[in-house]
Amino acid sequence: MTIAESLLRLQLSIPEHVKIVAVSKTKPVSAIMEAYAAGQRLFGENKAQELVAKQAQLPAGIEWHFIGHLQTNKVRYIAPFISLIHSIDSLSLLKEVNREARKINRIIECLLQLYIATEETKFGLTLDEAKSLLGDDSLPELKNIRITGVMGMSSFTSDTALVRLEFRTLYNRYKLLKDQFFSLDDHFRELSMGMSDDYPIAVEEGSTMVRIGTSLFGNR
Ligand SMILES: *Cc1c(COP(=O)(O)O)cnc(C)c1O
Repeated sequence: MTIAESLLRLQLSIPEHVKIVAVSKTKPVSAIMEAYAAGQRLFGENKAQELVAKQAQLPAGIEWHFIGHLQTNKVRYIAPFISLIHSIDSLSLLKEVNREARKINRIIECLLQLYIATEETKFGLTLDEAKSLLGDDSLPELKNIRITGVMGMSSFTSDTALVRLEFRTLYNRYKLLKDQFFSLDDHFRELSMGMSDDYPIAVEEGSTMVRIGTSLFGNR
């Protein structure tokens, strides 16, 4: 199957209100251009250096999302063009994004990465950590970031009941944080969950944004 065919198949299997982030990590610029030619505009990468190199070679109309663990010393390389960072996992990282965004007069949208997997260690905030970040006194001063939702990854397992439970937990935490911290803020509305193996479950459990690599571009 070509990338265009995979994309069409994916689009037909996902409701229109759910955004598809095409995860192009490790894939060449030519593969991204194939998806672009088929109409895809939203792409995700998980390494700053790789993202910067690709961005420079690709059309300006692409909307780039950062989906991997982000080190504070890499923020400045992606700040000029990144449109959404899915993986904020500390207040210090958020402050660094704000600092770099302010220098260039941008507002950068961010998701808090929440830890939901029960089976292995992954990056992310616990619910208590997310609450303490959102309740921090310094948050209102961060005018150059906007927190627009949360992201999470399920356990790497074939146990679909467990995956569903984890996605449901993430949805509930998203709702809870929205009610507690963003009841007057429409911008907080994204729930980034679901990858190639589990996106149908994620969509059923309320995802607004799926991050798909393998099902679009083939194995890495
Ligand atoms: C690689 C990656 C994906 C895409 O994974 P696939 O299984 O290839 O669809 C999604 N989210 C994150 C954070 C990733 O690192």
